[in-house]
Amino acid sequence: MLVKDILNSQKICISYEFFPPKHEEDWNRLFETISDLIPLDPAYVSVTYGAGGSTRDRTHDLLVRIQEETDLTVVSHLTCVGSDRNDIHDILNKYAEHGIENILALRGDLPKGQTEWVQPENGFAYAADLVAYIKKHFPHMGVGVAGFPEGHPETPNRLKEIDYLKAKIDAGADYIVSQLFFDNRDFYDFCERCELAHINVPIIAGIMAISSKHSMVRMAELAAGARIPARLLKAVERAGNDEYVERVGGHWATEQVRDLIDNNVRGIHLYTLNCSTATLRMYRSLGVSSSSQLSV
Ligand SMILES: Cc1cc2nc3c(=O)[nH]c(=O)nc-3n(C[C@H](O)[C@H](O)[C@H](O)COP(=O)(O)OP(=O)(O)OC[C@H]3O[C@@H](n4cnc5c(N)ncnc54)[C@H](O)[C@@H]3O)c2cc1C
Repeated sequence: MLVKDILNSQKICISYEFFPPKHEEDWNRLFETISDLIPLDPAYVSVTYGAGGSTRDRTHDLLVRIQEETDLTVVSHLTCVGSDRNDIHDILNKYAEHGIENILALRGDLPKGQTEWVQPENGFAYAADLVAYIKKHFPHMGVGVAGFPEGHPETPNRLKEIDYLKAKIDAGADYIVSQLFFDNRDFYDFCERCELAHINVPIIAGIMAISSKHSMVRMAELAAGARIPARLLKAVERAGNDEYVERVGGHWATEQVRDLIDNNVRGIHLYTLNCSTATLRMYRSLGVSSSSQLSV
């Protein structure tokens, strides 16, 4: 099923993101995580594509395995980095053969050590071009794109940035998934700015629970633009050890989700880091055992 149809048919859609593990033993652990999360009734699950296209094969293998072993709808992240049009065409062909029909079309993080974006020869300059290519050559596929509530560091001009986002929608994208954020006001403001720019597709809110001080530092490095509010930083500082940091992070993320639902946000994407603990705890704190119970 296409994500746009799921978004149209369910009152609240909660989705989960995984990354393809490097080591064999972590694959089994990830499949335990997936089994833990299935009873929550995910709208879909997505699999990331490593920086610089570094996980191309593992992303493909994980998607196919989830597709074959579960009834979950899968979404593949796909980036322009390090691939030309032929590579992208081959990847999309393989997905089509396996019945994978949802793509999150991205420009992609730069490979390690690279500081500036260089368009690959015969490749795509921006995610909008990738969206247009998918829509032209694989019109049956559903396409999502990334949005940045707090801005993308490469484009400090916030007006231009919304124009570039609009270009992705005009190229045929069905929905937007946001970068993670810790202050819902940034997301609501982003949604309003999208509305002003006549971007009318669903906008899915990206939420991640901080699980340790280390993960917070890493997240600040990786998640382009995401600001950690002082109140959250103070709470993390106050927490004596990582067990308490995890509780603080989980509580914060749960309150964000509760507030988003109360404000009629219909799509929430949880960055799970391949672990089910924070998500299961969040559902318990929200007093529900599956996503369908979240709509009242
Ligand atoms: C939900 C989500 C999932 C992600 N998953 C992955 C993943 O799996 N793998 C990965 O490598 N990265 C991933 N990323 C990170 C993302 O690829 C990077 O942040 C990347 O730098 C931006 O990608 P984009 O698709 O928004 O690119 P684009 O929309 O192409 O934008 C890239 C930059 O170029 C600017 N721009 C766009 N169009 C133009 C134009 N016409 N002229 C001038 N400037 C322009 C934009 O404002 C932005 O600064 C993800 C991000 C999000 C939010």
